Amino acid sequence: MSYTLINPATEEQMETIAHADVAQTDAAIELASQAQKKWAGLNPADRAMLLHRFASTVDQNIEQLAQLEVRNSGHPISQARWEATHVRNVLEYYSAGPERLIGKQIPVAGGIAVTFNEPIGVVGIITPWNFPMTIASWGFAPALAAGNAVVLKPAEWTPLSSIRIGELALEAGLPEGLFQVIPGKGSVVGDRFLTHPKVGKIVFTGSTEVGKQVMRKAADQVKRVTLELGGKSANIVFADADVDKAAAAAPSSVFENAGQDCCARSRILVEASVYDRFMEGLEKSVKAYKVGDPTNEATEMGPLVSKKHFENVEQYLSDGNVAFRGNAPTGKGYFMAPAVLTPGKLTDRCMTEEIFGPVVSVYRFKDEAEALEIANSSEYGLSGSIWTRDLGRGIRVSRALESGNLSVNSHSSVRYNTPFGGFKQSGLGRELGPDAPLHFTEEKTVYYPAD
Ligand code: NAD
Repeated sequence: MSYTLINPATEEQMETIAHADVAQTDAAIELASQAQKKWAGLNPADRAMLLHRFASTVDQNIEQLAQLEVRNSGHPISQARWEATHVRNVLEYYSAGPERLIGKQIPVAGGIAVTFNEPIGVVGIITPWNFPMTIASWGFAPALAAGNAVVLKPAEWTPLSSIRIGELALEAGLPEGLFQVIPGKGSVVGDRFLTHPKVGKIVFTGSTEVGKQVMRKAADQVKRVTLELGGKSANIVFADADVDKAAAAAPSSVFENAGQDCCARSRILVEASVYDRFMEGLEKSVKAYKVGDPTNEATEMGPLVSKKHFENVEQYLSDGNVAFRGNAPTGKGYFMAPAVLTPGKLTDRCMTEEIFGPVVSVYRFKDEAEALEIANSSEYGLSGSIWTRDLGRGIRVSRALESGNLSVNSHSSVRYNTPFGGFKQSGLGRELGPDAPLHFTEEKTVYYPAD
C-alpha cells in the first residue's frame, strides 16, 4: 500500500509514501507502549530538557520544514515559515509542562487527599491535510509533556512535514518509539488507533462527518477523545465599525491558506446601512489579494491542495450569486480565484456548508439581534470576528456568540498560549493554552490518614 504525492502548484508527481497496514500499526503501538513506561519514569526535569531539545532541533530546521509544506501542500512560503516556527513555539511552551503537573493537596477529615495527574499511556493523533504540522504539534507536544507516548497519523495528501518532525524527534534524542509518525489510510491506521486497546486517547482533527464516526467508535472502549472539526464562522460588521478597515482585513480572514482553514470567516454579515460601502472596499481588497506561486515571498494565497478538492469547491460557484472574483494564475496547478457570493437566502448551501476553499458569502442584517440570530444559526461554532467601535456591543456580542474563538476588530484565532476549540458540532474539548497537558492525564486522588 502506498500513495504518490502531487505538488498542487505544478501538478508534478513527487515522493511515493509507503502506507502502514494493521500489523505495522500494531507493532508501532506496542513499541510506543513500552517507550511510554520508561518516559513516564524519567525525572521530570530530564523530560523537560529533551522536549526543549526537540524544540531547538525544529528551530534549526524551520526552513526545511517550510519548504516541504510549500511543495506538498502549496502553502505560500511566508505562511509555511510561520507554521514551522509555530511548531517550535508549541514545543518550547510545553517543554515546561513536565515540571508543572503539580496536582493538589486537599484537606479532608482525618488526613489529607492528594491528586496526581497520571499519563494516559499511548495517545493516537489523527490529523487533516490543511495545516499538517501545526495541528499535529497541538496534540503531540502537550501529550509528550504529560508523560505519554504518541502515534501520529498524518493525512494521506500531506504527510511530509509530519514525517520529518518524527525524524527530528529522534535527532533531538527522544527515546525510540516514544513519538512515531505512521503514514497510512484513515480506514486502516486511523481506525486501528480507535480499536487498539493500548491507545487510551484519540485526538482527531478533521471533518465533522468523520469526527462523529471517531466518537462513536471510541465509545466501545470509552477512549478519551478530543475533536477539532469543521466551521462556518461569521465575520460581523456593524455600521459603527471602521468599515474600510473591516473590508480591507476580510480577505485574509477567509482566503488565507486558500480558505482551507477551519477558522475561515466564510460568512460575512454586514449591517444594511453600510453594506454598499463595505462591498466597494471588499471588491478592492479581494482584487488586490495576491494569488500565485507559493515559492514567491509576496504570495498571499497558493493553490488548493488537490484536483479532487478543487472540483468540490468549484461546485459552489455554479450555484450563481457570484458578485465578483479576484485573480489567479492559469495553466498548471490547482489555483482558484477568490470568489465573493451574495446568496439570496440564509438556507443557501454557501451559507450553511463548510466550503473549505476561497469562497465567501456576504449577507446583510438589520440590527444586532438579527446579526446574532444569523451567526448562531449554524450547527458549527468554531471562530468568528466582530467589528464595532462600541465597547459595550463588543462585549455583549462576543458573550452571546456560540463560538469558541472570537476576535474583536481583528481576525485572530490561534495562539499556542490560549485555549482553542469549538462549540456545538465544531468539536469537543480544547487544545493549546496552559491546561493542555492536563487533557492528556487522568486525575487520581489518594487519601492519607493522619493517624
Ligand atoms: P477528514 O475528516 O477527511 O480526514 C481527517 C483525518 O482523518 C485524515 O488523516 C484521514 O485519513 C482520517 N480518517 C478518515 N477516515 C477515518 C476513519 N474512518 N477513522 C479514522 N481516521 C480517519 O478531514 P480532512 O478533509 O483531512 O480535513 C478537513 C476538515 O478538517 C475540515 O472539515 C476542517 O474544518 C477540519 N479541521 C478542523 C480544525 C479544527 O481545529 N477545528 C482544524 C483543521 C481542519
